Amino acid sequence: MPMPLIAGNWKMNGSLNLVESFGQALTDADLPSHLEVALMVPFPYLESASRALAGSRAALGAQTLSDQPSGAFTGEVSGEMLREVGASLVLVGHSERRTLFGEDDSAVLARVRRALEAGLTPVLCLGETLEERDAERGEEVVIGQLEAVLDGLEAEQRRRLIIAYEPVWAIGTGRTATPEQAQAIHAALRRRLARYGDGLAEGTQLLYGGSMKADNAAELLAQPDIDGGLVGGASLKIDDFLAICQSA
Ligand code: PEP
Repeated sequence: MPMPLIAGNWKMNGSLNLVESFGQALTDADLPSHLEVALMVPFPYLESASRALAGSRAALGAQTLSDQPSGAFTGEVSGEMLREVGASLVLVGHSERRTLFGEDDSAVLARVRRALEAGLTPVLCLGETLEERDAERGEEVVIGQLEAVLDGLEAEQRRRLIIAYEPVWAIGTGRTATPEQAQAIHAALRRRLARYGDGLAEGTQLLYGGSMKADNAAELLAQPDIDGGLVGGASLKIDDFLAICQSA
């Protein structure tokens, strides 16, 4: 089984003070030895976070990247820049990017490729809307999003992805998928990964995201195909985030 990973996604939240507090807390924390931890912070905080987390076991991530390597793209940030300021991971295809910023499957694939070219680990986010789930199309939608990326990559590139299943209806809503609902989609994702061979099913970390909190994390993380969590709101409070880490 892959190592468990708990990754915090601060979204457009936080402050330099919070970066310092997390750096200290994660450096001092007695985290389970089998656990990987990561924090995805807003661009302006990456460099400070890289310093603040240097004495901890936590990896640093960004929340998106440009689909271009450099050039006249005002306001954009390249994968190489993220690497230079200490990031080793980057979220790609988060549902907020898909819905609010119009990133479709081909835009997601382009960003995954850029991340890999820059030496970053893409955390590919997948998830269905409530409408799609109610129409019993949840699994089909999520598998479609997965294949749209995997089919565009070489075998060696596929092995470098982390995948996060985040039902859109559970993100920031306080409504979590039940452990059984989450496990069913994770198992379907794992089965689909197996079709690509190459040890992909056994080797890929599959995270669950969507209102994961200190009081529901243990149950979710106990599911056989859930290898960790992508945590939004609860990753902004040190005690909550550490409690989720302890339950992994
Ligand atoms: C997220 O944005 O990736 C997320 C899972 O958010 P929340 O935990 O707040 O639902």
